[in-house]
Amino acid sequence: MSQYWSAVVHGLTPYVPGEQPKIANLIKLNTNEHPYGPSPRAIEAIRAEASDTLRLYPDPTAERLKLALAARYGVTAKQVFVGNGSDEVLAHAFMALLKHDRPLRFPDISYSFYPVYCGLYGIDFETVALDENLAIRTEDYLPEDNGAAGGIIFPNPNAPTGRALPLAEIERIVAANPQCVVVIDEAYVDFGGESAIPLVARYPNLLVVQTFSKSRSLAGLRVGFAIGHPDLIEALDRVKDSFNSYPLDRLAIVGAVAAIEDEEYFERTRHAVMATREQLVADLASVGFEVLPSTANFVFATHPTRDAAELAAELRKRAIIVRHFRQPRIEQFLRITVGTDDQCKALIGALREILG
Ligand code: PMP
Repeated sequence: MSQYWSAVVHGLTPYVPGEQPKIANLIKLNTNEHPYGPSPRAIEAIRAEASDTLRLYPDPTAERLKLALAARYGVTAKQVFVGNGSDEVLAHAFMALLKHDRPLRFPDISYSFYPVYCGLYGIDFETVALDENLAIRTEDYLPEDNGAAGGIIFPNPNAPTGRALPLAEIERIVAANPQCVVVIDEAYVDFGGESAIPLVARYPNLLVVQTFSKSRSLAGLRVGFAIGHPDLIEALDRVKDSFNSYPLDRLAIVGAVAAIEDEEYFERTRHAVMATREQLVADLASVGFEVLPSTANFVFATHPTRDAAELAAELRKRAIIVRHFRQPRIEQFLRITVGTDDQCKALIGALREILG
């Protein structure tokens, strides 16, 4: 606190990212990073770009990346926005598309950055309770039942639950709310969910946000993108060019292009994560956990008799970290990132020891 702080800063409640501890031999299952490295082609492209050209500014529009994404997802470059991680893309969407007189709506249990952006930008919001199985109820987002929203946003699959809505349900929500923008945050969609990108051609109020941090294993490069109607993309560009004209550096642009082009590596590694997840779910159940159905690269699990915070602390003593949220309704859950097969085996071994 300081007399030099603005009133806005005094009022902020910032997001707290998952820890990045510097413990040796740590099994890090707390921030949903990919257990395998990025495409070797991405690393090669980044190495080649680390040269004298770094004295020059990057392309402010990252056109090469927009074209690569447009080709990959069957849209035009005018329907693509890119930013410094999907957090930045989301932040611009809050400012550009979700700040209106009527409140923004999102689930009570969801990505905890959403209320933070609302605080930063002065956006009025209402949370909508997940059902008793921690699932999103489509009906809660239909205006005939609940009134017209100023905007709607949720992750699909949701975080931290891992539960996904089928595409037909997403379409019902988007179609029922032509008065506002619906943002679907697909950070985890490549691990078994259905992307809403094919709906973009038909719904001018739909913005789909994705990231290179999860299924493309490039959390360290900071690249995210959005796909939507060109008018929505123009709104994001207006905010971006009022904030930072060069959000993607030269290394990020070439690395992301190479990663998008390496479809074979993407397919192989995301399927490896999904296969490990199925084994992890079975193994967690065998030591007594109840696990929500997951289409993400993490699982959300609760033990009927053991306190989640204590389990997290015990795992930590054994150099295994998972995420625990001190939040009503989910304080007895652990969010566990799907690691390599060996990491997941070590986790189960440690849990067996802790549970006795
Ligand atoms: N959306 C959701 C639901 C997330 O969990 C995350 C990761 N914390 C993000 C967006 C942001 O990811 P990034 O900024 O790395 O693209």
